[in-house]
Amino acid sequence: MIHARGLTKHYGPKVAVDHADFTVRPGRVTGFLGPNGAGKSTTMRLILGLDHANEGDVTVNGKHYRQLGAPLCEVGALLEAKAVHGGRSAYNHLLCLAKSNGIPRRRVDEVLGLVGLEKVAKKPSRGFSLGMGQRLGIAGALLGDPGVLMFDEPVNGLDPEGILWIRNLMKKLAAEGRTIFVSSHLMSEMALTADHLVVIGRGRILAETSTREFIAAN
Ligand code: ADP
Ligand code: ADP
Repeated sequence: MIHARGLTKHYGPKVAVDHADFTVRPGRVTGFLGPNGAGKSTTMRLILGLDHANEGDVTVNGKHYRQLGAPLCEVGALLEAKAVHGGRSAYNHLLCLAKSNGIPRRRVDEVLGLVGLEKVAKKPSRGFSLGMGQRLGIAGALLGDPGVLMFDEPVNGLDPEGILWIRNLMKKLAAEGRTIFVSSHLMSEMALTADHLVVIGRGRILAETSTREFIAAN
């Protein structure tokens, strides 16, 4: 569960997130819908503690990010433009991440299997396509087996097969009882992916409703 109360973030005079109140519940996919610049990425960064709120707060499973236990094990995230395209192999990248977070080595093989990268895991990720890069990012997010997962615009630029794969993965993770929060600027995508919606515009929460009700009302 993610719970935000009065969450506010300014960049100079610009208000990126404006007194946002919302709750993201487990066991379903919650879409975070809003146009570009609405404040979705900023909100996700605040949830992860990668940025600091000016006012209000946000908790994950009742805990402020400072109180969260082992990093990666409570909340995992695929952030935008965070695809790893280095000289390292996917395997080495994940192994480093696992080691620095106290996660056992065998979990690396597990997550590589979960995202279908086991065959290319030893090759440098520099040669990865966008879709493979996304899969590697998702493998990193899954490494700590977190109960809460966030995906920032995960299907941008992917081909139909990649889109379908990510959509089905998020639904499966939700069905396992996890909290899934996924941002998009596309209603068409959210209609096919999300059970529930948090709608944001200019930093303000405009609606919090089931996707079905939102479609019926708009
Ligand atoms: P979204 O993810 O919905 O596209 P963002 O959270 O990226 O929106 O951005 C919200 C607003 O905050 C935008 O107007 C953006 O330009 C601004 N913004 C985001 N990050 C920064 C930053 N580091 N410095 C200044 N302004 C920022
Ligand atoms: P599995 O390999 O099937 O994930 P686990 O023992 O890790 O086996 O998990 C059993 C079930 O518990 C999973 O199917 C999932 O629904 C749930 N689960 C596992 N880890 C978490 C977690 N961190 N948060 C929420 N639910 C979890």
